[in-house]
Amino acid sequence: MVNLLQFDRSALGDWCEQQGEKAFRATQLFRWIHQRGERDFAAMSDLARPFRDKLIASAEVVGLAVASEQVAQDGTVKWLFDVGAGDAVETVFIPETGRGTLCISSQAGCAVNCRFCATGHQGFSRNLTTAEIVAQLWHAEFELRKRLGLAAGERAITNVVMMGMGEPLQNYGALLPALRTMLDDHGYGLSRRRVTVSTSGVVPMIDRLRDDCPVALAVSLHAPDDALRDELVPLNRKYPIAELLASARRYLERAPRDFITIEYCMLDGVNDSPAQAEALLALLRGDGSAERSGLPCKVNLIPFNPFAASGLKRSPAARVAAFAAVLQEGGIVTTVRKTRGDDIAAACGQLAGEVQDRTRVAERRARAVPVRIAAPASRRRAVEGVAPGRRP
Ligand code: SAH
Ligand code: SF4
Repeated sequence: MVNLLQFDRSALGDWCEQQGEKAFRATQLFRWIHQRGERDFAAMSDLARPFRDKLIASAEVVGLAVASEQVAQDGTVKWLFDVGAGDAVETVFIPETGRGTLCISSQAGCAVNCRFCATGHQGFSRNLTTAEIVAQLWHAEFELRKRLGLAAGERAITNVVMMGMGEPLQNYGALLPALRTMLDDHGYGLSRRRVTVSTSGVVPMIDRLRDDCPVALAVSLHAPDDALRDELVPLNRKYPIAELLASARRYLERAPRDFITIEYCMLDGVNDSPAQAEALLALLRGDGSAERSGLPCKVNLIPFNPFAASGLKRSPAARVAAFAAVLQEGGIVTTVRKTRGDDIAAACGQLAGEVQDRTRVAERRARAVPVRIAAPASRRRAVEGVAPGRRP
């Protein structure tokens, strides 16, 4: 049985042709699945009976098994989906006036291993398939439509952010058809500016995304210099800041917006000093760089959301405000992300799901010596490793 959620419309066309059907039949089928949430081929009334029979015999539309669902006081919904073999991933719906944002996972765990991220702490199990990525949207959209009593054609989800568990650009092959399904007018019909890929900085894949499917891009920076970023986002050792910002500039040649979103997680005493705000401002404006080219961007400061065993603290609100003021006075639009759904651990960086740590990140971390963050000398502070035996 072939799960049709794995195909974007063009691949579904190819599959239909292999079944001896005209490729345009795929569009009808695709609309049934992604615009109406239909999984029962027998109910797809405008498809010819022989085609329906063929579908019943050889294909299926299978979503994900819901392991749990929680609703936060602010209306945020978090689903835990069981993806088999001891892995489970999380998806979060964030309702706001006039829009609904779905935060989707791309991997079970994450191999990037950022210091401040609950997903990173769990290690990495495996990439999600296209079907598993799309199924998060498919499930949430049609479940919410029912619950909110929306009329046919009304959408529950108006925006998608690839900001759940995992590094989407380390699962590019599965991501791309999923993005195409989200954008397809016969699918979810989301505009490119309403779909955001957030990355810790996989430079070559930023270039590929630009060429293949330029949606809105968010870059998780978190530090104004390589010494600190090497510690916070280990991928920086491979793709340092200058290369990352250069790829972000190249991305803007095709991006649906004329700016990149820079995400910066505010960690008390680690990356939140006024001097670091100045350094970030200079970096983003391109002061002193050879080509003196800044990056058109907006900065989104994310107050750190704590999780067990992180050994880190959230910057106090006043410090976040002071940091934002430096950037704003320097001419960079800066917002502070509102924390949503933290009573059900659905806020940024708290998604942990259930992951078989096949990379043994937790074990390696337990053996590692606590890392010293190279903050300005006056503010040096140790970032503790995870205590042995304590998996978040
Ligand atoms: N892997 C991608 C997307 C998922 S993380 C990336 O790193 O960009 C989505 C955002 O949440 C990133 O900006 C990430 O840095 C941030 N984040 C991770 N852990 C966090 C935490 N504990 N508190 C606040 N933000 C966090
Ligand atoms: Fe992975 Fe993103 Fe978490 Fe870093 S912040 S560990 S890249 S999910």
